[in-house]
Amino acid sequence: MLLDHLNQKLQAIAARDLTRVLREAESATAPLQRVRGADGQSRELLMFCSNDYLGLAAHPALADALAEGARLYGAGSGSSHLISGHSSAHAALERALAATVAPAIPNAEALFFCTGFMANLAVLTALGDADAVIFSEELNHASLIDGARLAKAPVQRYAHCDVAQLDALLGACTARIKLIVTDAVFSMDGDVAPLDALLAQAERHDAWLVVDDAHGFGVLGPQGRGTLAHFGLRSERLIMVGTLGKAAGVAGAFVAAHPTVIQYLIQAARAYIFTTAAPPAVAHALLQSLALMAGDEGEQRRANLVRLQAQLRTGVGAILARRPGLGWRLVASDTPIQPLVIGENAAALRVAAILDRAGLRVPAIRPPTVAPGTARLRITLCGTHTAADIDRLLAALADAAQELA
Ligand code: PMP
Repeated sequence: MLLDHLNQKLQAIAARDLTRVLREAESATAPLQRVRGADGQSRELLMFCSNDYLGLAAHPALADALAEGARLYGAGSGSSHLISGHSSAHAALERALAATVAPAIPNAEALFFCTGFMANLAVLTALGDADAVIFSEELNHASLIDGARLAKAPVQRYAHCDVAQLDALLGACTARIKLIVTDAVFSMDGDVAPLDALLAQAERHDAWLVVDDAHGFGVLGPQGRGTLAHFGLRSERLIMVGTLGKAAGVAGAFVAAHPTVIQYLIQAARAYIFTTAAPPAVAHALLQSLALMAGDEGEQRRANLVRLQAQLRTGVGAILARRPGLGWRLVASDTPIQPLVIGENAAALRVAAILDRAGLRVPAIRPPTVAPGTARLRITLCGTHTAADIDRLLAALADAAQELA
């Protein structure tokens, strides 16, 4: 029965061109990566799809730090943080993360998590109790949506970046605790939330602002301190979630906030308490990655990203201007996430397949990850891409535009 039921659902997914396919990467994450496709063929592809925005995932200094961490602390943490899994590597990383965020959040403390998904579940389930109301941006990441669903607090959704609607909802709310929850950089659109206006709303309505900076930490702001720093914000009402498997190049996440918030998460957040701590070696490597992010190499790669973004936008703009009938749209974005909206699922898959033939990997993102009719190529750039890499992508996109026109 179960298998029949699941097979029917799988067929329905396939009928809507929504089947997701796993591919095996056979070499380190980098612009050029050896990948085994669903057909079993192994090929070197030019990748425009990772979230390794600074190209640190394969940095030799990080691989060395990971190995050194394993020699110092072993392979695993052995238990959850509150039992015996909390090592001095975790504690040192938390101090370094708190210092990184301190300009935005006075007296910030930081708490390290195994993944960003768990950090978001932890924050929303612990703080979103029956006394609270959660105000959730409509394009928030799945982990924030699920965290809000698991929380006891009722959830009110506001439209994308619609500060006026949020203002009205907050004004009508009589709950004691109000939590505004937003992505800082929207993961499928690449645009940046108006955090300055959202923080002003939090102050006006005695609310708190939870910011998921998965895609801004390491990329935006001075020394890559993130989107709060990019806006120059500073407030005790800010709760920041940063992930460490994207620009930081390793794995894990952190929550940075007022010490009382952090102390409460340690006591109450089930996604923190009831899980094995990440390997201390991961924390040890992340200390090295914070240094790389803030240092000259980080600066250079962020500067390169800005150049590559401009090159890509100009080139795609020219392709779209030549073929207005296609109906493709490059989403307005100043971040390394540069989505090209194609429209229907089948068309987006076709463009991705044409790029794949040309040796380029840009995945087609389809519903439910994005709204129906807005299937897209989520092009992501890495600080170690070159101008020649962008030229190759543009040439392949021009070919795809011609084929579909
Ligand atoms: N938040 C956002 C906005 C994300 O894009 C992601 C991952 N794609 C996460 C949270 C989850 O982070 P992690 O991958 O570390 O679980």
